[in-house]
Amino acid sequence: RRRLESELEDIRGAGTWKSERVIASRQGPHLRLAGGGAGIINFCANNYLGLSSHPEVIRAAVDALVEFGAGLSSVRFICGTQSIHKDLEEKIARFHQREDAILYASCFDANAGIFEALLTPEDAVLSDELNHASIIDGIRLCKANKYRYKHMDMQDLEAKLKEAQRHRLRLVATDGAFSMDGDIAPLRDICQLAQKYDALVFIDECHATGFLGPNGRGTDELLGVMDKVTIINSTLGKALGGAAGGYTTGPKPLIDLLRQRSRPYLFSNSLPPAVVGSASKALDLLMESNAIAQSMAAKTRRFRSKMTAAGFTISGKDHPICPVMLGDARLASVMAEDMLNRGIYVIGFSYPVVPKGTARIRVQVSAVHSDEDIDRCVEAFTEVGRKHGALS
Ligand code: PLP
Repeated sequence: RRRLESELEDIRGAGTWKSERVIASRQGPHLRLAGGGAGIINFCANNYLGLSSHPEVIRAAVDALVEFGAGLSSVRFICGTQSIHKDLEEKIARFHQREDAILYASCFDANAGIFEALLTPEDAVLSDELNHASIIDGIRLCKANKYRYKHMDMQDLEAKLKEAQRHRLRLVATDGAFSMDGDIAPLRDICQLAQKYDALVFIDECHATGFLGPNGRGTDELLGVMDKVTIINSTLGKALGGAAGGYTTGPKPLIDLLRQRSRPYLFSNSLPPAVVGSASKALDLLMESNAIAQSMAAKTRRFRSKMTAAGFTISGKDHPICPVMLGDARLASVMAEDMLNRGIYVIGFSYPVVPKGTARIRVQVSAVHSDEDIDRCVEAFTEVGRKHGALS
């Protein structure tokens, strides 16, 4: 106990303690916080399309719960596969225009399970230095030769691909969209290099599936390389209903291999039916029409252009993750606090989550924000920014 308490004290002392605000309502653009705070406008969820509390998504979850029960009490290969799991896997593959898909309890698990199952000591993996923690951990678990290239730096990737020619197979792994900066991987260039140096491309589409590209298929659709990316991992826990769950989609023999070898799939419980039901309905809504994905793009443009006109620097481009760059960690934290006093829920990020001197407030726009919500957020930023000297 003494050792743990001293470790906790160190975290507090380093200023990196993460506290959790308690929400007393459903996830959505407007929230009630526990202990008061109603009508808060929420700009910090990954609920990009507003489907987390969509009535049809909730109904589908309830229907699946009633028909298929609370859970399977089993892994998939013993007695944990229901018809709805197979239907959802088929739907995910169709959505991404891939041959097959496999479900996991989370995308963290999908990332933890793929590299070890696919790559051997004869192979190589080349990973963007700012990839998500779960990709980094997944790569740590595999025995392939590891190369880390500078963030979105194609010269460095090419140099590493040349070095990696001696290995049997090369896999380039990147986030499609990076969640701290709202920037999008240069997939066209990555795919060209992959072709030149005979490599495969893997993308993590957690911050892209459902809303990037004309039909919300993701970064590969946005950049016109759907036929060049071999493997996609993504989550059901953000735009696709927001419950939980992840998946890999790609060539059928790869999915077959993952069912035989991938440890988080083999040794963890099946996705609960309610989660399967809600994700399946979210995909139906997206495949029926691209209106929701398009509306999110319009809201993002409104926020980014108004904030830039007000004098703020917003990192990234055309992505609903809009980091308002402030530099100073204390400034980011007091401004976020003051925004909440004005009814706008946003979060400040500073070192070690982002590099020193690049503290920011990350704003996430959702399709279900009204234009008025967005304008109120910009007004509050302008007031708070002037008050704390972030704007002149
Ligand atoms: N990959 C990226 C890029 C993410 O942002 C996240 C979640 O934060 C994950 C993977 C993990 O997804 P899940 O919540 O489904 O485990």
